[in-house]
Amino acid sequence: MTHFPVEKIRLDFPILEEKIRNKPLVYLDNAASCQKPNAVIDTISHVYRHDYANVHRGVHTLSVRSTDKFESAREKIRAFINADSTKEIIITKGTTESINLVAQTYGKANLKPGDEILITAMEHHSNIVPWQMLCEQTGAILKVAPINQQGELIVTEFEKLLGDKTRLVAVVHMSNALGTINPVKNIIDLAHSRSIPVLLDGAQAIPHMAVDVQALDCDFYAFSGHKLYGPSGVGILYGKRALLEAMPPYQGGGDMIRKVTFEETEYNSLPYKFEAGTPSIADVIGLGAAIDYLNDIGMDAIAAYEAELLDYATEKARQIKGLRIIGEAAEKGAILSFVLDRIHPHDIGTMLDSLGVAIRAGHHCAMPVMDFYEVPATARASFAMYNTQQEIDVLMNGIESLIEVFG
Ligand code: PMP
Repeated sequence: MTHFPVEKIRLDFPILEEKIRNKPLVYLDNAASCQKPNAVIDTISHVYRHDYANVHRGVHTLSVRSTDKFESAREKIRAFINADSTKEIIITKGTTESINLVAQTYGKANLKPGDEILITAMEHHSNIVPWQMLCEQTGAILKVAPINQQGELIVTEFEKLLGDKTRLVAVVHMSNALGTINPVKNIIDLAHSRSIPVLLDGAQAIPHMAVDVQALDCDFYAFSGHKLYGPSGVGILYGKRALLEAMPPYQGGGDMIRKVTFEETEYNSLPYKFEAGTPSIADVIGLGAAIDYLNDIGMDAIAAYEAELLDYATEKARQIKGLRIIGEAAEKGAILSFVLDRIHPHDIGTMLDSLGVAIRAGHHCAMPVMDFYEVPATARASFAMYNTQQEIDVLMNGIESLIEVFG
């Protein structure tokens, strides 16, 4: 293994000290949500103890202080994904809200009956259902590009589905059910050569790799704070400024206006036009602290370490008879989905919990992926930068003893 300061990093995450059923916690449910370092916990606590007031509205000291910290977090987020301007960083509740925002503003304003939205067969429900709702509202049609048995997008088929009527492409950057990392630059280039904008669902990709929205040239990028070692209840929509300027607002209310009379309302400028109501102030500042923390470690170092963890886990899993890995894309992030002969994933999850190992069992909000593989559910171990090879050994030994007893 290359040197990565995992033991030092683990000390920054107090929850990793927890005992579960008298066993050391082995937390492998990071794709659902990951744990928080002291830097984030302490920052949020500090805000409530010393800085808290509502943002953007007050002239008093605390309001100015909260606003400064809030806007400085927005700048950290901008730099983290290399957006051109903080005007392009819209604060939302999470990936789900970010995608719904695009569907209900850009989508409603630009789609008419017969127009098409193109997604892939490996999307999370939050990158399927908002488009289905939009199709119901506008008469547009949802098209789905197929995947192969390894869990990779079939790019030639994707390209065939890009047609005269395609108005938007919405693709997951990294699949939560399979771990597949999509060839998003290629996808964007293919779509842009036909002047079709592309939204990337970055919920899973963002904690695992450096993301540069200008290098990718994506039109929208959505992600959640809670999967990026930050708090839940806050997420981001990046959008290219020209697109955001042209889009109608999402929700109406305070902060998103410049002037209101009963006859007419003038909307605020970007990014506030899309930020109606009081945001989750301390959590946004906490997300800024998570980004500082990650920058200190370095996203490339994290990606390299997690790739080694995944290789190690995959190799071990391949040696277990009766274990089938679901999702074996050549380009893959730190997720291992699997099924066992004759043992239901829910039973795997429950039995591993008795060993202190937290994994997820279910359809992972990707029911069409389960249908494709003809399984009701999978067990999923998902790794973060604080996981170790020893923890993977605990998982694999647990699976082997399970097979011995029940298989
Ligand atoms: N897309 C993907 C690929 C995800 O993994 C998730 C979270 N499981 C989401 C979207 C939705 O994220 P959130 O629940 O934070 O809005």
